Amino acid sequence: MPSVKKSFYTTVDHDFEVEHVEEVACNLCHATAYDVLAQELGFDIRECSNCGLVYVSPQPAANEIKRFYEGMYTSQTAADAATRSIGAVERHLKRVVLARKPEGGRLLEIGCGYGNFLRQFVSPRWTLTGVETATNALAHVRRTVPGVTLVEGTVEESDFPPASQDCIVMIAVLEHMKDPKGVLARVTRWLAPGGLLLVQTPYIANFIRAKRWFPKLPIHFEAPRHLFDFSPSTLPRYFAEAGLRDVRTEIARPYSSTGPLGSLLIWGVKAPGLLLYALTGGRYVYPYSSAIVVHGVRERA
Ligand SMILES: [Zn+2]
Repeated sequence: MPSVKKSFYTTVDHDFEVEHVEEVACNLCHATAYDVLAQELGFDIRECSNCGLVYVSPQPAANEIKRFYEGMYTSQTAADAATRSIGAVERHLKRVVLARKPEGGRLLEIGCGYGNFLRQFVSPRWTLTGVETATNALAHVRRTVPGVTLVEGTVEESDFPPASQDCIVMIAVLEHMKDPKGVLARVTRWLAPGGLLLVQTPYIANFIRAKRWFPKLPIHFEAPRHLFDFSPSTLPRYFAEAGLRDVRTEIARPYSSTGPLGSLLIWGVKAPGLLLYALTGGRYVYPYSSAIVVHGVRERA
């Protein structure tokens, strides 16, 4: 298996070998038949022949995946975080939450990072909780988001009482999970009936396909930190299986990028998609949109 060096995929300062890998079936439909879309860092990026889910297999075992994140969070200081403004992503997701939950309530963000999303909801109307593994990020959130309750750990390590949340948000989190189906079932239990689940996740499989013809496209799947690439057909199916209804799919706004040229390129690629999306009243999701937002509510008992 791959010998990993300091690179885009890892910020470790020493090389390491991946020793334990495991073959996995499709997490959504459990089928084992697949096509290989591409390879990255020696890992297959597969597409389920049955349901179309795109996933990495074999994957590093759970204890080895951690090594791909070494140094990632400590290299970002709180000072870096403080200079980041609230971007288009956070503003868009705030609009979605306010449209579907205008009354406010208990808001939980899984993987809250430096708190840029939660910070927008500081108000008597909202009770805020953040779950995050990066200790230095948590310290920053504690200083800058008044009244927030913070839990250090992963979604699997955290636990909340059933029906204890009115809105749960996961931004750039689900694609890192080994068992997204288990995670969605788990967090849906934490939602009160009528509660809102909102997930933002990359949707780049079509760019990865395009690399066959344009190998120099600067697009990375980010295997094996990213283990999945969800789509407007697979992620709503996950939501339905978790017991979520009134599920809607939107094109995500671009993440802010380093430098104006990068931002311009990203907006340039996404602009036709956002335009088509708006012109078709949200019915058409561009296959080169690079990220999607899916939201739905837990069934009322
Ligand atoms: Zn499948």
